[in-house]
Amino acid sequence: MSKQEKILAVKGMNDILPADAPMWELFENTAESILKSYGYQKIVTPILEETGLFARAIGAVTDIVEKEMYSFTDSMNGDLLTLRPEGTAGVVRAVLEHNLVYDGPKRLWYKGPMFRHERPQRGRYRQFFQFGAEAVGFAGPDIDAEMIMLCRRMWDDLGLDEVRLELNSIGNAAERLRHRADLIAHFEANIDTLDAEAKRRLHTNPLRILDTKNPAMQELVNAAPKLLDYLEAESLAHFEGVRKILDHNNVQYTVNPRLVRGIDYYNRTVFEWVTDKLGAQGTICAGGRYDPLIEMFGGKATPGVGFAMGIERIIELMKAAGEMASPNQCDVYMVHQGDAAQLQAFVLAERIRDAGLDVVLHCATPAGAGSFKSQMKKADGSGAAFAVILGEDEMANGTAAVKPMRDMGAAQASVPFDDVVDYLVDQITGGGGGHDHGDHSNCTHH
Ligand code: ATP
Ligand code: MG
Repeated sequence: MSKQEKILAVKGMNDILPADAPMWELFENTAESILKSYGYQKIVTPILEETGLFARAIGAVTDIVEKEMYSFTDSMNGDLLTLRPEGTAGVVRAVLEHNLVYDGPKRLWYKGPMFRHERPQRGRYRQFFQFGAEAVGFAGPDIDAEMIMLCRRMWDDLGLDEVRLELNSIGNAAERLRHRADLIAHFEANIDTLDAEAKRRLHTNPLRILDTKNPAMQELVNAAPKLLDYLEAESLAHFEGVRKILDHNNVQYTVNPRLVRGIDYYNRTVFEWVTDKLGAQGTICAGGRYDPLIEMFGGKATPGVGFAMGIERIIELMKAAGEMASPNQCDVYMVHQGDAAQLQAFVLAERIRDAGLDVVLHCATPAGAGSFKSQMKKADGSGAAFAVILGEDEMANGTAAVKPMRDMGAAQASVPFDDVVDYLVDQITGGGGGHDHGDHSNCTHH
C-alpha cells in the first residue's frame, strides 16, 4: 500500500501544543479573575454568524470586510455565513436578541478564536484568539477609564512592564465629517506623496490613512489636520473626563492624535496598548467606544465600549518577559507489573484522585506495558512527586512501594494499600516529609 500524503493545518492557523498550554492557562486564569473582580460576566456567542451582521457592524470599506473575512454560502440552504473576524458584533447582537440590558447596563467578557484572511506573519494569523470585554449601557467617561485600568492590572499581574498606552478621541460622526473634508483636501494637495493604498482610501476611509506604516508618508500624515482640533464641547468633556480619572490613578499614557480604529463603529474614546518587543505587530490590545453600534443594529440607542486583546501576541510577550508557567505535572505516577497489580493500580489511582491529587496511571503502548525500568523512566519524566509501585511482591503482602521522585534523599516506603491515600496526602501537603509539591493550579489538596 502506498503511503498517504500528510494532511497539514490550514495556513495561518496554529495548533496550541501541550508545552504552551500552561502559558495560555496562566493568561486566561489571570484575565478571567481580573474581569470578575471588576464585575464582568462571561458571554459565549457562536463562531459563525450571518455575513450581514459583520458587513453592517464593521463597515463596508474596512480592511476586515473588504478583504479579510472568511465568508461562504452554506450549501445546505444557501445562507450567507461568515467565521467571526472579531467579537463585538456577535456580543452586541446577543445583547439585543436577548434584551440583556432591559434591567440596566451590563459588563461582559468573552474569549475565543477569530478568523481573518490576512498574510500570515509573526503576530498575525488567520485564526487567532482574542480576549475581550464589552460594557453596554454605560455612557460616561468613567467606564472607559475603568476598562483601561483593568487592562493595566492585567499587564501588572502578568509581569509585562514594557507596554504603553496610547489614547485618542475620534469624536462623533458630525465632527469626523468636518475633519474628513479638511483631511481629504490636505491629502489631495499632496497627492504625489500618497501610496496606492492611500489613494484608494482617499475618498472611502481617509481616516485610516493616518494609520499608515509607510515611512515615506509619515511626514505628510504628521502634518495632517488633527481630529482632536475638531471636537466640540461634549466630546471634549468626555475625553477630559477619561483623562482625569486616568491621571488621578497614575495611569501613564500618550495622546496620539493619529490613533484611529480600523472598524467603523467607534466614536469618542479609542485606545491601544502597544509594545516595542514584538516587531511590527506591537498592538496587544485595542479598544474604544461604539455608541452608534446598537442603533445600527436596529436597537434603541444604547452606548457601548469595549476592547479586544490578541492572545498570541500577549503569550509571546509573556515568554519574552521570562514568564514561566509551571509545567503540567502530576502528583503521582502509578507503576505496575502483572494483571493483578494493574487491577489494583486502577483501584488505588481512583482513591488517590478522590483525595484531590493528580494521578497518571501507566498504560500500554504498541510495544506493550513495559518493564519496571521503562515505567520508572516514564514516572521520572512525568514530574510526579511520587511513584506508587505495584509488583508481584507488593501484591503478595498487600502493600505499595511509594517512592519519592523529586527529593533524592528521601527514602522509599512500603505502605499498606489502605494507607496509601493518607500517606500520600500527608507527604504532599507537607505534614510529613516536607516535599516541595511545586505550584500547579489544576489540582486541589484537601
Ligand atoms: P492591525 O492594525 O494589527 O491589523 P486591527 O486594528 O485589525 O490590528 P483589532 O481588530 O482592533 O486589530 O483587534 C484587536 C487585537 O487583536 C489587535 O490589537 C491584535 O492584538 C489582535 N489581532 C488582530 N488581528 C490579528 C491577527 N490577524 N493575528 C493575531 N492577532 C491579531
Ligand atoms: Mg487588521
